[in-house]
Amino acid sequence: ERRALDRLRTAASRTRDGADILLYANAQSHEDVTEAHALGADGVGLYRTEFLFLGRRELPDEEEQFLAYRDLVLGMNGRPVTIRTLDLGADKADETGLVMSGEPNPALGVRGVRLSLSHPTVFGTQLRAILRASGYGPVRVLIPMVTAREEIAAVRMLLSRQAERLREEGHAFRPRLPVGAMIEVPSAALAFPGFADLLDFVSVGTNDLTQYLLATDRDNEALGDLYSPLHPAILRVLREVIAVGRRRGVEVSVCGEMAADPRYTRLLLALGLEAFSLHPNTLLEVRQVVRATDLAALRRRAPALLRGRERSAILRWLAAVNAA
Ligand code: PEP
Ligand code: MG
Repeated sequence: ERRALDRLRTAASRTRDGADILLYANAQSHEDVTEAHALGADGVGLYRTEFLFLGRRELPDEEEQFLAYRDLVLGMNGRPVTIRTLDLGADKADETGLVMSGEPNPALGVRGVRLSLSHPTVFGTQLRAILRASGYGPVRVLIPMVTAREEIAAVRMLLSRQAERLREEGHAFRPRLPVGAMIEVPSAALAFPGFADLLDFVSVGTNDLTQYLLATDRDNEALGDLYSPLHPAILRVLREVIAVGRRRGVEVSVCGEMAADPRYTRLLLALGLEAFSLHPNTLLEVRQVVRATDLAALRRRAPALLRGRERSAILRWLAAVNAA
């Protein structure tokens, strides 16, 4: 079993009928990046920079961040790396004092891009470090917790301001970094057609999207199956975001845990997804499912999936396509 999977390290992520699917890696550590590269990942689709900020009192300075991002870029050896800007909030163990403590509703508070925009100096430092890392290979910038067009415009403005400064200082970097947004809040999913023109790609964060669409805390075990992406509302939103992305020429990937679960690979493919971002742990298993799939036949089963009105119907659909 493991041997059969190991042979897929150098195999293409191509369906039986010849469709190429992008498999990016979610990678934080040096080991993740080495592993992602060894598995033939198409790049890093999600690098969570908050790990550089957690468990310490001092903020990482520009140099420390630059070195970490450059390591990531060099580790992927020419494949694109997607660096998500700081996604701190009162739900994470921040000790730097950046996050407002005692927010009554951390999940709905000053987190993600809201926090970055309220600390322009800290944010500027991060953007400079990201820009400088782009001198060593292809880098994309991903904005977390976007809810409105204005936030994307503000980040783009700050990014070009920092680029202008770096240019004056004579640093080497890529002038126009692709900018993407996380689609992880219902408003962003619904308003996506209204800001697609500002974006080069989007990444759907199904962990938070499930939390916010279903009003289910992602960390509350007592909710059991209520916290699950196998809900008709989630499937409809996913289908819609994927369709808008296709119409507008904006790459859509899914980087939540859902994309890492091989049992859901065909569900996402049926909804039209062409790019996944997942931890290297299950990348080969997902590639194996992709390679064993006839995409055209699967897509014909999408209407039946979308007609499922209950979890049990969606589970039956999954069992049927996974047995095929
Ligand atoms: C998500 O919300 O699905 C996601 C990928 O981001 P995080 O898990 O870091 O919130
Ligand atoms: Mg998230």
